[in-house]
Amino acid sequence: MVQGNLCTIFSVFHGKVSLCRNYSVTLYDFLDIRLALIDKDMEIINTVKELKERISALRNDNKTIGLVPTMGALHEGHASLVRRSVQENDVTVVSIFLNPTQFNDPKDLERYPRTLDSDCKLLEECGAQIAFAPSVAEVYPEPDTRHFSYPPTDEVMEGARRPGHFNGVCQIVSKLFYMADPDRAYFGEKDYQQIAVIRRMVEDLGFRLEIVPCPVIREDNGLARSSRNALLAPEEKAIAPNIYRILQESKSLGLSVDETRDWCVEQINAIDGLEVEYYSIVDGDTLADVHSWDEAESIVGCITVYCGKTPIRLIDHTRYK
Ligand code: AMP
Repeated sequence: MVQGNLCTIFSVFHGKVSLCRNYSVTLYDFLDIRLALIDKDMEIINTVKELKERISALRNDNKTIGLVPTMGALHEGHASLVRRSVQENDVTVVSIFLNPTQFNDPKDLERYPRTLDSDCKLLEECGAQIAFAPSVAEVYPEPDTRHFSYPPTDEVMEGARRPGHFNGVCQIVSKLFYMADPDRAYFGEKDYQQIAVIRRMVEDLGFRLEIVPCPVIREDNGLARSSRNALLAPEEKAIAPNIYRILQESKSLGLSVDETRDWCVEQINAIDGLEVEYYSIVDGDTLADVHSWDEAESIVGCITVYCGKTPIRLIDHTRYK
């Protein structure tokens, strides 16, 4: 964002540039230094055309590209994905786009926090090279009528409670994959089910890229970092950490799968201001319900809880094995 202007600190004489008296460099070195500085600055791109041109140029230079799709209101959870991508790719593109097609509740979309300026500052600090922040008309010049269906991953849990949600996720993520043509795309395990659905879509559409799942970043009290946490009142913030605490506690009780599920729901519902929408203990790959700890190699408990008066919908998960 900050455009370094070295002209103000260099003086040019006979094809040589003198810098702070003690150093002398050629004009070519000067241009290299300037380009290196500009490279560190993050570009903000708003149009699909400009993004595609930039990506083509990077591809011609054999650069590897990491993509981090986000909806903005960025926090340390997003930052962890961006830092990982910066480490593993030549160029990191972060999309900031509040995708209307994945919101089944217009009120949820309306109250979603929007913080573009501070988002760009955080991304620049993390070392991202490109922030892609298009308008809705830019991404959807025509209504997207594509329909995606990957049962059971998109039908259970969030899929059952938020009709159309994963269809909208597949619409935007596939568009971003076409536009940014990444080698790797980074997603948080915070949205555990989303990763399972996107893996199926990548397989189905034959995208040649790697999906990189990244661990959940939490507050010190265990609450999963989320853009929606900004909407919680102080008293709601105080009770929300109980969700993860109870899920963690349930691992050491020696109960069966069904007893564990019922115990978690009972404990969380007993806290004033929290109400479980569902708690499903599932095969970590297929997301099908399991009823015994031996039934699958990987077992995960996925929960959604209504918190407070608004109420704010919080999602979380824990791994049993
Ligand atoms: P969102 O902006 O909510 O769509 O999130 C963009 C990406 O950041 C998704 O892949 C999320 O799973 C990921 N993400 C959000 N919160 C966290 C978190 N607390 N830890 C790790 N990843 C996260």
